[in-house]
Amino acid sequence: MPAPPKRGTALRHQLAELRGPDVPPRPLDARALAALAANPGCGRRALLDGAGVDKAALAESLGSPSGFGQSQFAFMRGNAFEARVKADGGAELLRLTHGRLGGGPEPVPGESAVPDLSAAGPEGRAARTALALREATESGGWTLLDHPMLALDVAGTPAFLEPDAVVVHPDGRWTVVEIKSFPMIDGSADAAKVGAAARQAAVYALALERVAARMEDPPRVRHHVLLVCPKDFSNFATASAVDVRKQLSVTRRQLERLTRVEDIAAGLPEGTTFDVRRPAAELTAAVEAVPASYAPECLAACELAFHCRDRARDEGEVTSLGRSIRGELGGLTTIGEILSAALGTSGDPDDPAVATLRRAAGLRAEALAGAGASGGGSGC
Ligand code: SF4
Repeated sequence: MPAPPKRGTALRHQLAELRGPDVPPRPLDARALAALAANPGCGRRALLDGAGVDKAALAESLGSPSGFGQSQFAFMRGNAFEARVKADGGAELLRLTHGRLGGGPEPVPGESAVPDLSAAGPEGRAARTALALREATESGGWTLLDHPMLALDVAGTPAFLEPDAVVVHPDGRWTVVEIKSFPMIDGSADAAKVGAAARQAAVYALALERVAARMEDPPRVRHHVLLVCPKDFSNFATASAVDVRKQLSVTRRQLERLTRVEDIAAGLPEGTTFDVRRPAAELTAAVEAVPASYAPECLAACELAFHCRDRARDEGEVTSLGRSIRGELGGLTTIGEILSAALGTSGDPDDPAVATLRRAAGLRAEALAGAGASGGGSGC
């Protein structure tokens, strides 16, 4: 009698079936992993990403295309800014790193190492990066690793991640560098964009920690990353050290959760598939079979956002109005329940959320009655 398949093999087989016959898995990148950390409660995203489903193509087949992605112009502007920041052997970038994070004597232009990281295929580049990190740490000088390749095991499959840069300081510590083209004005930038950059950088820091852990006397990966942006809409670069400890722990938890996608998959009806070649009605049923947790933040982070937003609105889910509103309304999870509680037809009057809603409804009724009594006002 043949031996039953191992657990990992069985899971991989099941995830391949969910993707559809002959559909290669879409590799996970740092942006996708960071987005998982942005919405840790969503089983739908965890399963689709774990199975390597192309969510943009799925959204298209569902009839709710994502409209996701960077414009060509923004892409070119970002690349030009990054090239400027890294010019002259990374002199400006290393100066900014030293200025914000220290870690040794001031770098001398032209004396820092910028190793060649080219190799065949992502596995080869990841191995070359690991070797360069070891040599840089032993050298005791400043080293800039331009577009290194890092491998991170995600649910048994390696994800290959390419940060903008990693700096090795003379003190042996490693720093992740994120170069973005949004402006930093008077030392601060758009909080949502900084948050997204921090989540992405945390994924890289986590992957770097895995590389460090395989070394004898593991080097320390800084939990502050360097965010480099244009200064006040100019072409000059400025930088800020961003603390990513919180994002690191959320990402770690999320990756552990991803390894449990088999639990989510086990709850699906027999024959469920996310094969984008299937009819829209079948795909809709498959997607709806996996619990989701829509919030407006999804619009900036997930290709399925328009689909999930429509569903959340149809169901009257309070989360479609924002997580903070959902948090303040306690046990009231639908807009119907809120309206009914405000009008006094349901809800516990001792519940502070219900009491506040009734008071707000009373004030509104008073205001409307007052406006009606004044009968059109002075006519001004
Ligand atoms: S858009 Fe949908 S699938 Fe994506 S994270 Fe939000 S709720 Fe989950």
